[in-house]
Amino acid sequence: MDKIRIGISSCLLGRKVRYDGQHKRDSYIVGTLSNWFEFVPVCPELEFGLGVPRETIRLEGDPERPRLVKSQSGEDLTEGMERFCRGRVAELERENLGGYILKRGSPSCGMERVKVYSAKGMPSNKGRGIYASALMERFPLIPVEEEGRLNDAALREAFIEQVFTLHRWRRMLAEKCTRGGLVKFHEQHKYLLMAHSPKHYRALGRVVADMKGKDLAAVQAAYLEELVAALRLRATVAKHVNVLQHLCGYFKRQLDGDEKAELQETIADYRAGHFPLIVPITILNHYIRKYDEPYLKDQVYLKPGPTELRLRNQVY
Ligand code: SF4
Repeated sequence: MDKIRIGISSCLLGRKVRYDGQHKRDSYIVGTLSNWFEFVPVCPELEFGLGVPRETIRLEGDPERPRLVKSQSGEDLTEGMERFCRGRVAELERENLGGYILKRGSPSCGMERVKVYSAKGMPSNKGRGIYASALMERFPLIPVEEEGRLNDAALREAFIEQVFTLHRWRRMLAEKCTRGGLVKFHEQHKYLLMAHSPKHYRALGRVVADMKGKDLAAVQAAYLEELVAALRLRATVAKHVNVLQHLCGYFKRQLDGDEKAELQETIADYRAGHFPLIVPITILNHYIRKYDEPYLKDQVYLKPGPTELRLRNQVY
């Protein structure tokens, strides 16, 4: 598989671009994710011309529309930095990014909870970095995360799942941009979507069912928007259990009483937090192979990413 191109704050790759001449190398990103992702680094502060080392900068004023100023001298960089960031993210259009990882807490790169100082010097954690704002406005449909949040297994899994789903979507458009291609994509993602939002799954089903006579590009755009909205909703234990029970239903004739009971006990143990999700999924994958269940073989839910990334392993 070709590596997926992911934008990233340069300092997370180990580049010494921070205000103090240091970096913030993240070993999970550099050591693990780099096997699957090809990173496109950007340091907006350095590229804007602030140099290394440099005076620290911070957000001030209204958290909804903060100013970017130098912490000591008070020089206001807002207009220049906003203009630079709009241009820089426009350049990223040609990079075909499938996601973005931002450095948390930065007045330029931070995605959320960035400190914004009031006129009295009191900080509130309600801001977003100037570059991150421009980026998320320009690319509202790509998955964006911060490196700190990737330490949380559920958030990490959600981000990786979104990245790989967007990648499959783009591959489908490149290889089979037809009505049939969209129907197949929808079928393959049925249980993944159900794990996030049965409501969105049904809405997407209507988009697919009603596409006859409509412009295919418009249908695909509507589908993608709803798909992204669905995957941004949290896949809870209750929703996973619902999906697992649906999957069990495919084997009600093949399994004997003991096998059914074992499967139900495993799901109950997952629901109680004794096992990670991968345990009932491994048993189901065994039955899918054994009974050659064609519809389930193609379900992305059962293998949402490369085995090495251990998705479903740490989700309780
Ligand atoms: Fe550069 Fe962003 Fe890292 Fe700051 S957080 S050093 S602006 S890449």
